[in-house]
Parts: sequence; structure tokens; C-alpha cells
Amino acid sequence: MHVPTGPKRARFDVPEEGAEPPVGGETPVPGGTQESARTEDGALPTPPSTRIIVVANQKGGVGKTTTAVNLAAALAMGGLKVLVVDLDPQGNASTALGIEHESGIPGTYEVLIDGAAVADHAQLSEEAPNLWVLPSTIDLAAAEIELVSTVARESRLAKALRTYLKTHDIDYVFLDCPPSLGLLTLNGLVAAREILVPIQCEYYALEGVSQLVNTINLVKGELNDELQLSTVLLTMFDARTRLAAQVTDEVRAHFTEETLTTVIPRSVRISEAPSYGQTVLTYHPESIGAVCYLRAAEEIALRGASKEDL
Ligand code: ADP
Ligand code: MG
Repeated sequence: MHVPTGPKRARFDVPEEGAEPPVGGETPVPGGTQESARTEDGALPTPPSTRIIVVANQKGGVGKTTTAVNLAAALAMGGLKVLVVDLDPQGNASTALGIEHESGIPGTYEVLIDGAAVADHAQLSEEAPNLWVLPSTIDLAAAEIELVSTVARESRLAKALRTYLKTHDIDYVFLDCPPSLGLLTLNGLVAAREILVPIQCEYYALEGVSQLVNTINLVKGELNDELQLSTVLLTMFDARTRLAAQVTDEVRAHFTEETLTTVIPRSVRISEAPSYGQTVLTYHPESIGAVCYLRAAEEIALRGASKEDL
């Protein structure tokens, strides 16, 4: 790991051994303090109806999976009932939530292609109470092609989720998409009400986002009127670079309302957690990455809460 030296070194770049949460309101990443969304016992507000959030960005490696699993776990730890649907044949979300997903384990593929019920293949994650995962395996790679000749190919996930939610009381559903705008992502966009776009604080951060926005508009017009780009989350922020601050400003100028105040820093702990089958929230709960994902989840919960809950 490159450990920078000198006065510009930000607090979270200190090797994170036993790293402490930011205290005294001082935070090394932009965002500042925010009103707490939690009740005294740490519970987060329940949304008025199930929030189905698709985490999409056709660029790979921008933090989609990391964001989906950590937000899902943070909301579940806050007392909410959460389902994660792994729509990526890589199965990274399944891995990060400690769910087995070797070829042959039923999950998203069976739901999309065979019309299986979500409830039959969703597994409980040990990362948090009330956190379910519909796993994906490499078999899902074939679904992208097999779906082409299937009836209602774009809305198979939407239909399966509608059926599941009739009998399951779930507060949040996160759909983790592959890095493409193919039929798997399209199923995610049709099934969701909200889109969360993670944007990595680096060169060309906004490149591709306009293509995503065009796709969203197409889906909105043709397949899913309710779809709304509700949330933008800046990820992998590196306080040492002026570029990260510039990207942050640029994204906030484009998505003023949508961009969360909380920014996720680049953190070694975040990237290490999946290799232990964990989210950063259980792997290193004190680390700055964990603290920031908890805050981002609070912001999302607060934005989606009904007035009576506040
Ligand atoms: P995507 O799902 O968009 O392809 P991932 O969430 O898998 O992106 O992230 C890509 C890589 O970057 C992974 O190895 C992940 O562990 C790492 N990563 C994600 N967010 C951070 C972060 N804030 N700090 C450091 N590494 C990160
Ligand atoms: Mg991913």
C-alpha cells in the first residue's frame, strides 16, 4: 500500500489499524455533520412503502457492488428488512455478503429464466439481521443471451419481485447490476423505482453517465414510468488529490439534489472486506469506510422516510 507522508496526509490515509471513527464533528471527507435519522435505540425510519433501488453505472469498478452490499447491511443493522438481488454473473455481492454462489446454486438465474420464486432461493446473510440475498452464479452469464428469446424479457425480475413483495414485508430491495446496459441491467431498471448511481472520484467520472441517463429516459418512457434517478453517491474519494475535489464539485453541479452529502473515501478496509465474505461494517466497524457507509445509509433512509416518522 502506498502510504503518503507529509502535511497533506489526511486522517483516513493513516494505516487503518484500529482506526478511530471521526470524532468531534471533524471529518476528513467532505460532507460534514448531518442530522441523525436514527431513533434513540439506533433504528432507522421505515419507508412508507418498499423502496426498490437499482445500483447502476455501466462502468465497471466504480463501487456499485460495494455500495449495494454496505448500504443494504447498514439499513438492516438499523432494524430494516432488506433484500439484495445479485444481477451480476460475477456474484460479487453474494461473496461480500458471505453467501455461497458456486455454479449450480439456485438464485437470480432460476428466477429470471425458469420463473422460480424469489422466496425459494433467497438466503439469509449473517452480516445483519433480516438481510436476504438472491445470489447469482456464473450461470447467470448465459441469461443475458437466453433472455433475448424469452417472453417479456425486460420485466421478468419486476414480475418476480412483485409476487415476492405481496407476501414478504421488505423495506428495501437493492439490485446490484453488472457493468453493462444489457438485459440484466434492463431487468433491474424495469423492476426498480429508484436508481442509485455510484460515481468514482476520478478522471472521466461523468463519462458514460449521460449514456446511462439516456437509457433511464428510454426505460421511463417505454417500460417503467416510476423510475427516478434519486441518488448519486461519490465513491473512492481521495482527499490528497485536487482532482477528487474537482470531480465532487462537477458531480454536485450536475446532480445537485440527488448527490448525497456523505462521500465514501478510498479505504483499504473497504476493499479488504469482501475477501473475508464480509461488509466493511462487520469487518472493521470503526474504520472511516464503515462510518461513511452508515452515514450514507442514514441519509438515504431520511430522504425516503414519511413525515410522520421524523
Ligand atoms: P463495481 O461493482 O462497480 O464493479 P466494486 O464495488 O466491485 O465496483 O469496486 C471495485 C473495486 O474497488 C473492488 O475491488 C472494491 O473492493 C474496491 N473498492 C470499492 N469501493 C472502494 C473504496 N471506497 N475504497 C477502496 N476500494 C474500494
Ligand atoms: Mg459489481
